[in-house]
Amino acid sequence: MRDVIEIKNDVEFIKELKKRGGETLKKCFQCATCSVVCDLSPNESAFPRKEMIWASWGLKNELLSDPDIWLCHGCMECSEKCPRGARPADLMSAIRDYVYKHFAVPKFMGTALGSPKYLPLLFLLPAILISILVLITQNWDLGNLFPIKEGPFRYKEFVAHGPIEYLFISGNILIFAFTFWGYKRYWHNLKCKLNKPKECSFGSAVVKVLIDLALHKKFKQCTTNSTRYLGHLFIFYGFLGAMIATAVVVVNVVGIFGQILPEDMNLPIGLLAGFDINNPNEVREFFGLIVKLFGIFAGFLIVFGSLMCILRRYRTEPQYGKSSYSDMLFLWIIWGVAFTGLLCVLFRLMQTAVLGFPTYFIHLILVYFLLWYMPYSKFAHMVYRFLGLVFLKMYGRENRIINYSVSN
Ligand code: SF4
Ligand code: SF4
Repeated sequence: MRDVIEIKNDVEFIKELKKRGGETLKKCFQCATCSVVCDLSPNESAFPRKEMIWASWGLKNELLSDPDIWLCHGCMECSEKCPRGARPADLMSAIRDYVYKHFAVPKFMGTALGSPKYLPLLFLLPAILISILVLITQNWDLGNLFPIKEGPFRYKEFVAHGPIEYLFISGNILIFAFTFWGYKRYWHNLKCKLNKPKECSFGSAVVKVLIDLALHKKFKQCTTNSTRYLGHLFIFYGFLGAMIATAVVVVNVVGIFGQILPEDMNLPIGLLAGFDINNPNEVREFFGLIVKLFGIFAGFLIVFGSLMCILRRYRTEPQYGKSSYSDMLFLWIIWGVAFTGLLCVLFRLMQTAVLGFPTYFIHLILVYFLLWYMPYSKFAHMVYRFLGLVFLKMYGRENRIINYSVSN
């Protein structure tokens, strides 16, 4: 006698997916064109066709344990070729979006980040916290908040660096604890549906995935969309650069390096021409400048990368449909963080505190938004995708070698 398979369909889950961009999923008639045209879909148990039917039946557990959703890099090729206009790429994005909400700890934060009605509240919290730090720095003197005077200034005159660093560092430790909890639950939920033994260990899968990510291999395999590949590449390396520059400043690597420099140096570095290499202060200044320029370059990469992705989404809207709220929110926030960061540098060079201080205030709110809400927003895809890809690598689930194409 054949086994009886019990299917538990979750109607609320279908509604949630529709709300998050998968409203056309019921149009699917399972022709599998989407799986054929997808450059990243494996031969066995190909996506996104199977996800379309699982979503249509409301098979929540199947989809939440499906690591294949992270193999999809959202190129939209499948949506363009779908003969029914069912937009499978949007459905894949909606499932990923649901994952952030479902595994978020605490759960209400996942709900808040997924809905525009909570956006004012999400901005209000950092605005209040940072305003308190500003007022403490200014000795509660409201009249002196945004001085009109022109001339050299430092941002720590507006808000002291120490409290800001404590706020961000302590907040980030707390967030990472919550985040780790959510990711751990997700990792244990993942299942390999192919009944295959593991092909490599966790450690070696991590190394392979890191190499793939550094080279952006999957994006390159998606041949349809070079704008998206470049945009993501810029954002990826821009973030990496910004994180390195921030860490160097916060840990004061240049200062520590300056302390250990020998009194009488004879560094044969052509780049130091123009600096008195026997003067540790000048060498410190030189390396400080290099770090700043590196940070500015990283900022430009993020601004250009995010702008490319945002414009591409608006440009392709008539063809592929509207992008989801969380995708667009994430792109605008990272663009805002980098753009206001660059403006802060500009206003400091122009010596206009009256423009610099308010911009710095907005910049801090955006940075807070990005980092503190990281596990609940699209930013979390960084870790969820990484975990999903590591899991798939462990089971040797790769895309096919031969690509098929379907003409219009
Ligand atoms: S191409 Fe469209 S209709 Fe065909 S299986 Fe994919 S989503 Fe469904
Ligand atoms: S969006 Fe691109 S990568 Fe994702 S399933 Fe469709 S064709 Fe494949």
